[in-house]
Amino acid sequence: MCGIVGYIGDKNAYPILIKGLQRLEYRGYDSAGIAIHNSSLKTFKKKGKVNELETFVADKDTRGYIGIGHTRWATHGEPGNANAHPHTSMNGNFVLAHNGIIENYAELKEDLLKKGFVFQTETDTEVLVNLIEYFYNLNEVNNAELAVRLALSKVVGAYGIVILCKNEKDRIIAAKMGSPLVIGIGQGEYFLASDAGPIVEYTNSVIYLNDGNVAIIGKNSLTLKTIGNAPVNFKITKIDLSIGDIEKGDFDHYMLKEIFEQPKTIQDTYRGRIKPEQKDIVLGGLLDVFPKIVQAKRIIIIGCGTSWHAALLAEYLIEEYARVPVEVEYASEFRYRKPIINPGDVIIAVSQSGETADTLAAIKMAKKQGALILGICNIVGSSIARETDAGVYTHAGTEIGVASTKAFTAQVTVLSLFAFKLAKARGQIDQEFYEMLINEMLDIPDKVQTILLRNSNIKKVAEKYKDAVNALYLGRGYLFPVALEGALKLKEISYMHAEGYAAGEMKHGPIALVDDNLPVIVVSAKDGYYEKVLNNIQEVKARKGNIIAVVTESNNKLRNMADDIFEVPESHPAVAALLTVIPLQLFAYYIAVMRECNIDQPRNLAKSVTVE
Ligand code: GLU
Repeated sequence: MCGIVGYIGDKNAYPILIKGLQRLEYRGYDSAGIAIHNSSLKTFKKKGKVNELETFVADKDTRGYIGIGHTRWATHGEPGNANAHPHTSMNGNFVLAHNGIIENYAELKEDLLKKGFVFQTETDTEVLVNLIEYFYNLNEVNNAELAVRLALSKVVGAYGIVILCKNEKDRIIAAKMGSPLVIGIGQGEYFLASDAGPIVEYTNSVIYLNDGNVAIIGKNSLTLKTIGNAPVNFKITKIDLSIGDIEKGDFDHYMLKEIFEQPKTIQDTYRGRIKPEQKDIVLGGLLDVFPKIVQAKRIIIIGCGTSWHAALLAEYLIEEYARVPVEVEYASEFRYRKPIINPGDVIIAVSQSGETADTLAAIKMAKKQGALILGICNIVGSSIARETDAGVYTHAGTEIGVASTKAFTAQVTVLSLFAFKLAKARGQIDQEFYEMLINEMLDIPDKVQTILLRNSNIKKVAEKYKDAVNALYLGRGYLFPVALEGALKLKEISYMHAEGYAAGEMKHGPIALVDDNLPVIVVSAKDGYYEKVLNNIQEVKARKGNIIAVVTESNNKLRNMADDIFEVPESHPAVAALLTVIPLQLFAYYIAVMRECNIDQPRNLAKSVTVE
């Protein structure tokens, strides 16, 4: 959450900063601001989205070759003008943009108040910029880099920061702890951003900062050191990302583009991993540790939100086919609840961004207790990818819509391949069954394409239910996580209250909600639960609820009972989640469009949750 950018070079910084903030807007859109160094420090900030900042500065002088910017997802202090970043220190010597939380800000602030500092905002960030100012003035040291390092040595919490100092016109200082920060290397210029998106159109050479790194960046110089002043060697990475990947093309919204990309992204995810000639699955990133995984006594999968749903599905797959006990944990609970972790345990962290603060903290904690840690992330080089012992990238491409779609199906693809491979390696399934599962997976992209071609029917059904107040999603077995994911999509972007339930649980509470206004979305496949689901539907119908059923083509019984249907091609139940989730993504999308919601930037949400 929160996006930060920076530029130093020979070009005017303002257009680069604004464009960068637009590319990072998925990370937060409570307010936006920039600061430019041009003989003096000028700061412009505005509540709301980046385009409101643009309008605000249209008649202002934004010239200058060095600058920083920020798009905010508020944690401390309301999302107004005053709390917008960049923040300026009391004497105006520093401006700073911050992504993260300074956890000990209250005690630091108390100290600074005693020293005579005055604060204009409610943010934790203003405390940090004043702490830097304090060290800058202490004993007249007047050395910005030293002041930053001294201040950071007092800070507890997470930060990605970019800083300008009034008296040091030729540099930007940046630092990272917990929140991500990338430096792009140009010709006589450097770019800074929370992810590579804003950098990719200028250069593909980047450095991913590590925790504890402080960077001192001039137009022709870059020094990395630790907070304690030890030199740091850096690695230049070539990023494989194009502008087309991060623009929405002819689609109305990024979310719709990303839904429609899924035939390709699912294929990209399994490409090179499914070896049709050898009739095998090879997860290159896990090769070295695979013997250990095969011996695992227990697998614990950690995630948040949509990633947690993918993890839950993996639990069902791994336990059924590989027969290894699996636990699925919310990262935010796991990290604090003193879980029992044994050396034979394998922990899998699932995170689209690879920066999810709770998941990152959870694996750091588990690592200390000796478990093997694996990561399933979408962003190459992300913090979780670097923190884990081994892992598999999902290769879904950049996901910009805040409501995750293609990243979910990519996570499910990787976790399914993992479950099938493990089942085979543990001798729990034979070659024939293994090949059947592989072939089912290879067929998925074409089947997803078939569902996408039926989107006009999904739109019609959305029209019918767009004014509902509540919605209930039901599924059993592999389709229970799909019900949860469908409900999450709907509430995230349309603000319609929606609950996902294991269908058998309905009678233990949610059935009280059923009346003739309630759409009940039933996700079903012809699996072992089929007859049971039919009973659940009868229970809803007896109470006049409206049934929308996600059905397979030959699923006639259910089709006849439902008020509306979303048809998906037949598949083996083990891969059915990859198909049945698609109509639910489109249903949520169309309802949100009809309710005139902001699809790609739903209220109060942001992507890449780098705060806990
Ligand atoms: N804590 C800072 C604020 O509230 C930054 C928030 C963030 O990175 O999400 O302004």
